[in-house]
Amino acid sequence: MGKASTAAFKAATKVIPGGVNSPVRAFRAVGGNPLFIAKGEGAIITDVDGNEYLDFVGSWGPHLLGHAHPLIVEAVQKAASGSTSFGAPTTAETELCSLIASAFSSVDKVRLLSSGTEAAMAAIRLARGFTGRDLIVKFAGCYHGHADSLLVSAGSGALTFGSPSSAGVPEDIAKLTLVLPYNDFDALDACFKKHGRKIAAIIVEPVVGNMGCVIPQRGFLEALRSITEHHGSLLIFDEVMTGFRLAWGGAQTLFEIKPDITVLGKVVGGGMPLAAIGARAEIMDKLAPLGPVYQAGTLSGNPVAVAAGLAALRSIKSDPNLYRRLEIISARLAFVLQEAINETGVKAYVARFGSMMTVFFGTSGPVHNLDDAMKSDTEMFARFHGEMLKRGVYLPASQFEAWFVSTAHTFDQIDAAGSAARDALKVL
Ligand SMILES: *Cc1c(COP(=O)(O)O)cnc(C)c1O
Repeated sequence: MGKASTAAFKAATKVIPGGVNSPVRAFRAVGGNPLFIAKGEGAIITDVDGNEYLDFVGSWGPHLLGHAHPLIVEAVQKAASGSTSFGAPTTAETELCSLIASAFSSVDKVRLLSSGTEAAMAAIRLARGFTGRDLIVKFAGCYHGHADSLLVSAGSGALTFGSPSSAGVPEDIAKLTLVLPYNDFDALDACFKKHGRKIAAIIVEPVVGNMGCVIPQRGFLEALRSITEHHGSLLIFDEVMTGFRLAWGGAQTLFEIKPDITVLGKVVGGGMPLAAIGARAEIMDKLAPLGPVYQAGTLSGNPVAVAAGLAALRSIKSDPNLYRRLEIISARLAFVLQEAINETGVKAYVARFGSMMTVFFGTSGPVHNLDDAMKSDTEMFARFHGEMLKRGVYLPASQFEAWFVSTAHTFDQIDAAGSAARDALKVL
């Protein structure tokens, strides 16, 4: 912690609750104070004290191409010079929505919004409006932003209605959300047996990043698809994290499952506040002004955000080897971490899917759901986080967040992270 970051944090806490505009940034889960960041380039970020760090946070997902990608920076500058907002349609919005629709075979039409939270909230309303039903199913440990109906955790017992996971969420709203364990086929069957006719939708992270990286077991996503189809419920894939990160067409393309509604954010905006929902026309046409489901936004389809998203997606699309390269870099990171773990004898489990990864400390895994993830030794993770920071590696400040690899990470940087991890594990 440099002097400038310390002073900046002290000043921030006077006017911003906890000194941060999103809670995980405050480093509460790992102790210490957060670094204040001055700039980023590629895989490196620089704090206000001038210290450089190898970044595996990537703004929590958006920076698939690394920080300050030249084409995104140029597109943003050009768009901003023509005004930062009109609140009227632009042709760039059509281009971006066409590009998104072309990436997902489940998507005919797209609506742009400004955050993943907003998009997941709109997807839920759309599913309820389309089906005329009220109940939503989500999985414990999956995060879909902070809308009321999604800030819900499991009540006691497997089949109970959800209870609020935040103050300020009314019980009456939380109980419309049923919370099941991820990867649990029996709980899914039992839930639909009991409530199936009232369930508007399942919302799920097809590969989870928000309890740490958790991978769907063979057949789980297929089971979600068939049970929703059978009961006339919709399947919502929240691909805010996985969309354009795991593949051009997201996790649904890799797993060959067609959800009814797809939620996008993060990579799709190239680091600007932009998100999207997409579905087949029959569903999307339920949205206002065509249909009865209201949804709107002053800054939706904002020209600067759209320019960044277009630049990001075009860069991704123009590189046919991008996802293969990203897989190789990410696999190498998992490998050097596993080597460091083996060498030092520390108990830890490396979970990875593509460029999403988590080292669960104090457990030998596997991690299939939130209960498994909660077996982690969070104090050990906190010490590791601090030791890595000392060695110039910036990791998510929580055991339960995914690390992200970008196309800007080099093999040398990955190997340096591996050496840092070996040294850090030695002194845990
Ligand atoms: C980050 C995230 C969200 C929320 O997006 P915001 O832009 O932070 O509101 C929703 N769903 C998933 C899967 C996410 O990873």
